[in-house]
Parts: sequence; structure tokens; C-alpha cells
Amino acid sequence: MTRKVDYLIIGQGLAGSLLAWELIARNYSVMVVDPEQNNASKIAAGIINPISGMRFVLANEIDVLLPAARQLYQHLADFFHHDVFVATPMLRLLPNEAAYQQVQQRLTQAPYQAYFSDGARGHALSDFKSYAYVHQQQTGYVLLPKLLASLKAFLCQRDSYLSAYFDYSSLQIIPQLRWQDFTPKQIIFCEGYLGANNPWFSWLPFQLAKGEILTLRHDREQPKMIINYGHWVLPCPSQQLRVGATFSHQCLNTLPTVAAKDELLHALRTVNAHLDAFTCLQQDAHIRPCTRDKQPFLGCHPRYPQLLIFNGFGAKGSLYMPWYSQQFAKALTQHTPFPADIQRFYARHFPC
Ligand SMILES: Cc1cc2nc3c(=O)[nH]c(=O)nc-3n(C[C@H](O)[C@H](O)[C@H](O)COP(=O)(O)OP(=O)(O)OC[C@H]3O[C@@H](n4cnc5c(N)ncnc54)[C@H](O)[C@@H]3O)c2cc1C
Repeated sequence: MTRKVDYLIIGQGLAGSLLAWELIARNYSVMVVDPEQNNASKIAAGIINPISGMRFVLANEIDVLLPAARQLYQHLADFFHHDVFVATPMLRLLPNEAAYQQVQQRLTQAPYQAYFSDGARGHALSDFKSYAYVHQQQTGYVLLPKLLASLKAFLCQRDSYLSAYFDYSSLQIIPQLRWQDFTPKQIIFCEGYLGANNPWFSWLPFQLAKGEILTLRHDREQPKMIINYGHWVLPCPSQQLRVGATFSHQCLNTLPTVAAKDELLHALRTVNAHLDAFTCLQQDAHIRPCTRDKQPFLGCHPRYPQLLIFNGFGAKGSLYMPWYSQQFAKALTQHTPFPADIQRFYARHFPC
């Protein structure tokens, strides 16, 4: 006895969860398969920051990405009756005059003006030292563990979730897709960094990056905003803070390291003199599915179009995935073009 589904989705990180949500909203049947281990989405801070790096570059397509993210997270909050996105301003600490001048230049550029407010030389807060600072707007963070738990419960209620590891060797592709008892029309791999080991998609140019985060308890009143100084501090309930994140292409495993803890505490100490007011409660490590050209990987396998990938959201999944999951679902169901289509790599990277 086989069970027909439209889409078998491999992975219940944020990518697989939001894609399943979009497909169900369009009345397609899905089965999401996940082994229920830790993943990047569960440990990520979920910060949405339209402006990245020390060159203060505005994300491409921010005019569509940010409204799509806001709208979807609000819709999910209404549906699940709990907060999903917490709008929180960000204070950017600037280490020197060059950084300050760079921001001043950005402030003269029209597209940036909606994302910065006031800035000046000197400190904005007594506890956090800086050469200069600027306030950022339209920032905040997604409550990822809570959202993922709600989406999983929603999938379970619809009998659309299977706690299992998808074993590649047990997939039959020809004459029709079959895995265990399922005969899906298509399979969509949303495996995060493990996509780099997928036998059908490992030829894609992933550039994985390990990241580590600390959770600290504090006994001094902390600002109710995200502090960004190259690294960041995120205020959390119960006198806790998250401090992150490291970024490394070395030692791509999910084990916390002493070196990362030292790096995060050292960076915090350079801007905050009250480090002894913090106690380290937890350290988490995982791997971001970054890509060499900094674009996500969406689309069909060149030989087996019934196998697809929805991956490569790197360090910005919370901002990118709402819009991309909508466009991907539309491409699947209405045959519109995939954005960030992996066709761009067929000629150079796919082994004939
Ligand atoms: C330290 C750190 C901090 C970060 N901070 C932020 C941040 O502040 N803001 C932000 O936007 N992003 C952040 N990110 C990035 C963010 O985590 C990713 O963009 C996003 O979570 C990737 O989601 P995903 O669903 O693609 O992958 P994952 O969340 O890793 O999910 C993939 C899922 O696929 C499952 N899977 C894999 N292979 C199989 C298989 N064969 N069978 C079944 N299931 C399988 C895995 O078990 C997993 O559950 C951070 C990442 C790290 C590591």
C-alpha cells in the first residue's frame, strides 16, 4: 500500500518548514521528513538586519524581502497565537573614524535612509564603549525554536510529518519516485549544510561556515536593543543575553570550541567593561549553508527534474526564506521561473 503525496520535503529547518507551509496554503499535500536532531535554525539568533558587514551594505532585493518576511511572520503569529518576530532596534557601535565616515556616506544615499536614524561620535550607552555609533531601524529577530515547534505540531496534526532520516540509498527514482511507502510527485531537499553531502546536489558550490553562540546570564540592567559591534548582543527574557556569532570555514563540525568562546568574550570585553557581570550558561555551534556566490540554491536536478533543492540561505535565512519559499512554491505550482535557479551552475559544475 503506497501513499501518494505531491511533495516529499526533506528537512524541517526553517527552509523545509516555510516551504511546507506555503505548499499546504496552496492545497498541495506534503510529507516533511526530519530526524529531529539539532539544526542551524534551532540555534540561530534569527536576527533580521537589512544592512550587513563593516561596509554597511544593504541586502539586494530588500524591498521585496523585508515586506514578505514581516507579512509572513505576522500571519504565522496570528495563526499560532504567539509572537514570531520581535521588532527590536539595533545600535551599531563604530570602532573608528573610517567606519563613522562610511556610515555618513551611506546616510546621503536614498535607499539607506529608511534603515539608519541618528548617529554621532562617542558612546550612546554608558556600558558599551565605542568611537562612534549609529542607530539602525527595521531590525529584530525571529523566535525560531518556538516557530519551528509550532510548525512541526501543525504538520503532525495534518499527518504531514515523519520523524526519520531520509536514506538516499533507499530512494527509487525510475520508473517513478518511491521512498519507503511514499510515492511523491517530487522530492525537495531542504537539508541545510548536509545538502553538501547529498548525492544529487553535492556538485553545487556550497561554502559552509561554522558559527557559535553563547548564552549569558547578567546581573546588570541591559539595553532593550540589539548591540552590533561586528559581533552582536541580543537581549532575551529572564536576564539572559545571546552573544554571537563566530564565522569560520574551518573545522566544519557542530562541536562548541574554546577558541570560539574566547573570541566572543574577547570581542565583548573590548566594548563592555562589565564582563564579570555575565555568567556563561550555554554554548551552541552549528553550520550555515552558505554558498560561494552568496545566492541561495533553488531548482531542479539537471538529469532528474523530479528532485529539487531549496537551500543555501547562508547567514540570512530569517530574512530571505519567506520571500523565496513563496516564489519557490509559485514556481512549482504555476511553472513560473525559479529565483536563484541552480541552472546557473549546470554548465560549469554538473558532472556529465
Ligand atoms: C551560530 C549561527 C547563528 C546564526 N544566526 C542567524 C541569524 O541571526 N539570522 C539569520 O537569519 N540566520 C542566522 N543563521 C543562519 C540560519 O541558521 C540559516 O540560514 C538557516 O537556519 C538554515 O535553515 P535550513 O532549514 O536551510 O537548515 P537547517 O536549519 O540546518 O535544517 C536542515 C534540516 O534538514 C535535516 N536533514 C538534513 N539531511 C537530512 C536527511 N537526509 N533526512 C532527513 N532530514 C535531513 C536536518 O536534520 C535539519 O533539521 C545562523 C546560523 C548559525 C550556525
